[in-house]
Amino acid sequence: MSDHDPDCIFCKIVEGKIPSSKVHEDDEILAFHDIHPWAPVHFLMVPKKHMASLAQVGPEHTAMLGRMMALAPKLAFQEGCRPYPQGGFRVVINTGDDGGQEVHHLHVHVFGGPRPWTKG
Ligand code: AMP
Ligand code: ZN
Repeated sequence: MSDHDPDCIFCKIVEGKIPSSKVHEDDEILAFHDIHPWAPVHFLMVPKKHMASLAQVGPEHTAMLGRMMALAPKLAFQEGCRPYPQGGFRVVINTGDDGGQEVHHLHVHVFGGPRPWTKG
């Protein structure tokens, strides 16, 4: 089975078929700025290999998820989030329709920067 879904917008970003403003890239994970930011800092982290959502996660994904969680603070501060505890950031994984997920490729939102934010 292919690592990419031809109809998935984030797979197209991973493949370079749609441009993105990259924040980080390694063998497993891509991070890029959200096209409609809600906060002064707003980027997404995605696994390069397509999976629809957090609902599909199994034991084989724990290392990748752990790497994303460990990357979140590093990239958040690199992107301009202020230091903890006065600063900080928010991590969100919308999952399914009830969870407010619009793009069905697992992604972690990282929001931060001085308030007010547009949403949240
Ligand atoms: P969600 O509601 O969690 O599925 O959020 C999907 C996010 O993807 C939204 O915040 C969109 O603004 C963002 N998004 C959609 N298309 C792109 C794109 N081409 N580049 C960057 N971010 C995008
Ligand atoms: Zn995808």
